[in-house]
Amino acid sequence: MRQVRSGAPEVATPRMTARVLAVFYAFGGVAGLLALLGASPHSDHSWAVAGIATGALLTAAVLGHWGPRWPRAAFHLPVGAATGLIGTAVALAPDPLTALAIASIVCFVAVDAFFFFRPGPAVVHLGTALVGVTTVLVLRGDVPVPTALALVAVVVALGTVARDLSRRAASASRDPLTGLANRRGFDDALQELLAAADRRSEPLSAALLDLDHFKQINDTDGHEAGDLVLVRAAETWGARLPTGAVLARHGGDEFALLTPGLTGDATLALVERLTGLDLGTGVSCGVAQHVPGETGAQLMRRADAALYSAKAAGRGRSALDGDRDSRLATELAAAIAAGGLDIAYQPVVELGADGVIGVEALARWEHPERGAVPPDEFVALAEQHGLIPALGEQVLRTALTQLTALRAATGRQLRLGINVSVHELADPSYVPRVTALFAEFGWPADHVIVEVTETQLESDVAVVRQNLEALMALGPVVAADDFGTGYSSLSRIDVLPVQHLKLDTSFTATITTSPRREQLLASIVALADNLGLGLVAEGVETAEQDAALRRLGCRYGQGWLYGRPMPVTELAVWLDARSVDGAFSNVR
Ligand code: C2E
Ligand code: MG
Ligand code: MG
Repeated sequence: MRQVRSGAPEVATPRMTARVLAVFYAFGGVAGLLALLGASPHSDHSWAVAGIATGALLTAAVLGHWGPRWPRAAFHLPVGAATGLIGTAVALAPDPLTALAIASIVCFVAVDAFFFFRPGPAVVHLGTALVGVTTVLVLRGDVPVPTALALVAVVVALGTVARDLSRRAASASRDPLTGLANRRGFDDALQELLAAADRRSEPLSAALLDLDHFKQINDTDGHEAGDLVLVRAAETWGARLPTGAVLARHGGDEFALLTPGLTGDATLALVERLTGLDLGTGVSCGVAQHVPGETGAQLMRRADAALYSAKAAGRGRSALDGDRDSRLATELAAAIAAGGLDIAYQPVVELGADGVIGVEALARWEHPERGAVPPDEFVALAEQHGLIPALGEQVLRTALTQLTALRAATGRQLRLGINVSVHELADPSYVPRVTALFAEFGWPADHVIVEVTETQLESDVAVVRQNLEALMALGPVVAADDFGTGYSSLSRIDVLPVQHLKLDTSFTATITTSPRREQLLASIVALADNLGLGLVAEGVETAEQDAALRRLGCRYGQGWLYGRPMPVTELAVWLDARSVDGAFSNVR
């Protein structure tokens, strides 16, 4: 991992280090050859020095080509080797002038050491180089000691300047608290890694990691506790990253990660491991894989969109951008937030009369590209991504707004059926929230029917049951929706917290197909009557079904035969021809 707490400058990426070292080796080689050309007299050793200079030129080529892929620690080798080569060439130089000229190449080591390494190892590199080269110079016997020391003074001054400059460069791109790269350091690394990924056609992914409820930690436990969490995150994650990965503090409680060589899926697996480590708070994460040609800003925008959908899904999760579901969930979240869902109202009628009991509000989502998304699909998506409470609230608010306007225009007080998921009912604040909405619109609570599917009613969660009982006590009627599709509730129908059954469309569709089916329906009607439950048959499409239902004593129906789900404007026209039946028998 590239970490800068220790003082290793952010400019020292493997690519930059390799490039600078290659340049120094090349010029060191050229300088050695030039010094040799000016030397006199030539000796056998001259060939050895020429060999070392040529070796330096070859090393430059190796560094330039393969160096960018080396881990950072590997660069200690060429820097250390430079000291060895310079020392040997100084020892073999044919005359003192050539020896001094070659010894001056040690300047490169001073610059390299402070630009590329932490201060400790940098001092070791420079110290070794100076002591080694000066000793060799002095041992030659033809270079006066003060002259050798003059060279040392120059190189020490150069090293000091290099250290200060590299520190400045590093602190501009370093976060002082965590020691990680800051946003600027991250952006530099992003540009560099993007270019490298495009050049080598290798994958590169980016992740944004956001600490959940960080503000709360700061507010309740103080800023020091918040700082501790940030430092712990940096240390815990930093120690577990693959080579070449860049971790940065991107904003207040947001970290950013770049994983060269890893696909989006592999990065998702990595961040799931990292965020699974205990930090004392949850972490949400969005991941995106770079697509060739895209800019860094575009990549980070996609990682941010994935982070948004991870948060919308209830936090503490990681999401990969581009996965169709998470994209659709993000769009659904945006549509809900913008109040972009529509409502279709389907009438519930009294069979055989022309009375309307009320309407069921059915959510509709018109996707800008895909057109109408089936409710079964987007409701399931909302359930998976934690969007149900927001969806339910928007549907209820819109329905109340439209139906109170309709009431004001027509004087008709309808019953409003709303579909509620256990994900909403599992929230202890559900009942106060909806009753506040009823009050806000002046909507009588006993004119609300809360429809919960039969299968969800079987939930054992205590708070769901308490909420249903609290609702019933406050006025709304609770209905078991899609009745006849669950398995266990017939045996528990007496204890389920409901007052009302809505016979599922699939059941209604079969009532006219056999005498035994009719008999089954007759038994359900009797059962509902005996238990004092209201019964509505859903999905009534034909006159035969309507006749069979009436014959068997089912009083209420809903289906295309009476009215399709329709927008509120159409509902107003549809209602004009019918009366509203205030009495909903069996219910209350
Ligand atoms: P549901 O509550 O059982 O709604 C009745 C479904 O039957 C609706 O499908 C309605 O359009 C359809 N239907 C009505 N009459 C007929 C008919 O004569 N024949 C046939 N074949 N179908 C008929 P829709 O609108 O597609 O809604 C599907 C489900 O989505 C709903 O089933 C409900 O469970 C869920 N849903 C809809 N809106 C919401 C909502 O706001 N919140 C929640 N949590 N769920 C919702
Ligand atoms: Mg329903
Ligand atoms: Mg239903």
